[in-house]
Amino acid sequence: MKKITETNSISEMAGISFDCDCGRKHSVDIGKIFINNKGIAEEILKSVSQYKEKEILLVADTNTYEAYGSFVERILSDSGFNLRTFIFKTRQQLVPDEKALGLLLAEIEVKTSLVLAVGSGVINDVCKHVCYKTGKPFIIVATAPSMDGYASVVSPIILNGIKKTLPGKYPLAIIADTAVLKNAPIDMLRAGFGDIIGKLTALDDWKLSKIINNELYCETCVKLIENALDKCISNVDKFLARDEQAVSYVMEALVLSGVAIGLHGDSRPASGAEHNFAHYWDMDAISRNAEHPLHGNSVAVGTVVTAYVYEYMKPYLPDGLPNTDPQKIIGLLKRLGSCYSPKDIGISRELFIDSMYKAYKLKPRYTIFNLAEEKGMLDKITKELTEIFYGRS
Ligand SMILES: [Zn+2]
Ligand SMILES: [Zn+2]
Repeated sequence: MKKITETNSISEMAGISFDCDCGRKHSVDIGKIFINNKGIAEEILKSVSQYKEKEILLVADTNTYEAYGSFVERILSDSGFNLRTFIFKTRQQLVPDEKALGLLLAEIEVKTSLVLAVGSGVINDVCKHVCYKTGKPFIIVATAPSMDGYASVVSPIILNGIKKTLPGKYPLAIIADTAVLKNAPIDMLRAGFGDIIGKLTALDDWKLSKIINNELYCETCVKLIENALDKCISNVDKFLARDEQAVSYVMEALVLSGVAIGLHGDSRPASGAEHNFAHYWDMDAISRNAEHPLHGNSVAVGTVVTAYVYEYMKPYLPDGLPNTDPQKIIGLLKRLGSCYSPKDIGISRELFIDSMYKAYKLKPRYTIFNLAEEKGMLDKITKELTEIFYGRS
């Protein structure tokens, strides 16, 4: 049985199954992961070939249809596929809510044999959940390296104004043309990198809980993510210059974090206190019917906040736990031209203080905030961080 190592390429991980040093058997239930700039048309045709006789539903929104959907549509029609296209008509960002779910569901017919989604975060989430409910197979052709949900089995969906994490269908294939990814809007590139930066504190939290609580831990998952993360961080300037190789490192790391979630069985390898902040701030914006930043931007800011908390907690940290320097993260975000303070992404002083006390309680998952609270440090840290980000009141 072949083992995964950090030197495996992401495409080699599809469909793999192995006995891990953590004592468990892991498998990756995604059939194909293809991130490249060559041979994309052939890969798409190969992936959908078994559906040739039946109807394939191509799903995109106005932007992603223009960016790549029309190209995918043409290569399938030219090859004689029975294809129907559904485009979410949106002037602004598509919202993953009950309306989007309903619109897509109405387009799915009994004879629909496959949903071929062309897009990024929201298209992926909506298609993934509808395919889960209808049992239809699902393939995602990614248009932006903007978030880490491509390989995940959950879909964040807003129902009645409340964000819920609903089950999603594993994609048969994740296909991305790096020549398209590198031309994604700059905000989406920054958000994708922000989501990757979040893995720094996510892994710190996991290591912390392993030492303090003896929590189930998988060195293979950690090494996979750390290795992918290093490649992204050491190529940040090239990434910003839209260098194709550097953009593909970020896409690979984003897909990999979903793969690691699948290996471990929950989102621990990819999500710690920084993601709790992102969810808390999102829920607040949704409840006020206000716009919220892209997931990765909130995660990046949540990572800065969490790294500061680690710094304050240094005297209490167990031996051998390296923690991430907040200045290093701020430096990276500055180079990217991204926000690093909660104030700059529209979080009010009051909401920030509120989230310092409540965000970490969203999930029953041990983070540095639990340790800060146990040691009676949370009030002091909250007060000082509020001054750092917002000035004296
Ligand atoms: Zn994320
Ligand atoms: Zn393992």
